[in-house]
Amino acid sequence: MTLPIYVQGAWFLGAALFIVGLKGMSSPASARKGIVIAGYGMLVAIAATFLIPGLQNIALMALALALGGSAAWISGQKVKMTDMPQMVAIYNGMGGGAAAAIAAIEFAKGDAHSLATTVLAVIGALIGAVSFTGSCVAWAKLQGVLKKAYRLPAQNAVNIVLALIAIALGGAMVAMAPAQPALIFGFFAVALLLGLIVTLPIGGADMPVVISLFNAFTGLAVGFEGYVLGNPALIIAGIVVGAAGTLLTQLMAKAMNRPISNILFTPMVASGPGEAISGSMKELSALDAAAMMRYASKVIIVPGYGMAVAHAQHKVWEMTSMLEEAGVEVKFAIHPVAGRMPGHMNVLLAEAGVPYDKIFDLEEINGEFGQADVALVIGANDVVNPTARTDKASPIYGMPILDADKAQNVIVIKRGKGTGYSGVENALFYTDNCRMLYGDAQPMAGEIIQHLKAMG
Ligand code: NDP
Repeated sequence: MTLPIYVQGAWFLGAALFIVGLKGMSSPASARKGIVIAGYGMLVAIAATFLIPGLQNIALMALALALGGSAAWISGQKVKMTDMPQMVAIYNGMGGGAAAAIAAIEFAKGDAHSLATTVLAVIGALIGAVSFTGSCVAWAKLQGVLKKAYRLPAQNAVNIVLALIAIALGGAMVAMAPAQPALIFGFFAVALLLGLIVTLPIGGADMPVVISLFNAFTGLAVGFEGYVLGNPALIIAGIVVGAAGTLLTQLMAKAMNRPISNILFTPMVASGPGEAISGSMKELSALDAAAMMRYASKVIIVPGYGMAVAHAQHKVWEMTSMLEEAGVEVKFAIHPVAGRMPGHMNVLLAEAGVPYDKIFDLEEINGEFGQADVALVIGANDVVNPTARTDKASPIYGMPILDADKAQNVIVIKRGKGTGYSGVENALFYTDNCRMLYGDAQPMAGEIIQHLKAMG
């Protein structure tokens, strides 16, 4: 069916808005605007769908939109910043599931399609179904519903066999099109199982990378199903999401120095007993921390996951402003995987009003730690762990780290002796130039502020 020009035009407009929105998301300054623009794009694309002549089941579609829209609105209002990765996971899973469902309906209808269309429908259905169940497992793990990593004895062999069965069933569906219901059912059952089995053994620390990979899968699946339906908005949106997800996955894997194959197929565990750490953790008071920074000429702040949990970013910025008023040069050093999602720290600092020109990436700032009087590590752990440089047995070996240990003095704010996400002990905390300020990051930053005020 040839669609009216106004529907096609509106879909094109929606797709253009997605691209403009994505461009906006490339900088924290314009990210919020980018999201809103992409949201309008989605609104235009959905509204245009209702204008297709001869549309049936309009009431059902409106009901689905009302249910889905309200659930997303309510959960979007309530979600905590630290729970954002699991929210992304579940929404992404919905996208993959929707793409697979579109394909399932097309197969069930049994309409004649060209060979290329049927092949794309099958590939889209396979990756959409894998992304759906995989993303559900990712959500359950990050939400703490699934606490263990389940690993089968011959995990990688099982993964390969299941993938081959799914491909063979998909091939049979293409060859026998229109396929019998039993074949369609078997294909989807295996594809859904594959997503579960591949994701269950992957540990929590690798999960954000996996979510990003599934995001790329969902994009591809949506793009392929868009081709099947002849919907250009879906094709463009799918390609944009697929490309963005692929790039993000590569960037994250590079930042953790773990090849994607390694993340998917090798559990993140120590390969030996690891280097012995000598020395002891030495404590200091908030007053001493305030004095060290107040009389320093250069302070570099390294925020991590703990700052996000404590919602300490506003206090940290207040403290920074006071130090700057006292003539101290203060910079923020951001590790690409600090926190629990890419850009986590940038978003929090932007929210607190920290100007972008004070925020530096790992490559930009690492050379400056040697000239810093104080490196203040707030709720960060793995991203400043020097064993990543030297301990070949460590699960984080090879991950580029922020060179906080090279500063003259290091102050670490954390609640206790807890390890970071990787579960690895941090050699930095035991070095001679490092002092621990134990406590929740927010009240601790507050105490430092009080002492800075008293120092004038
Ligand atoms: P970590 O998870 O390594 O460490 C966080 C530290 O914060 C803990 O040691 C904890 O110690 C402390 N902490 C927790 N709550 C508080 C609080 N309320 N106040 C003060 N301190 C607190 O965080 P990093 O940001 O250093 O590293 C991120 C980790 O996540 C890396 O391993 C990275 O590979 C992984 N990861 C990140 C991704 C991303 O995209 N950002 C993606 C994939 C993985 P204590 O309990 O003693 O307080």
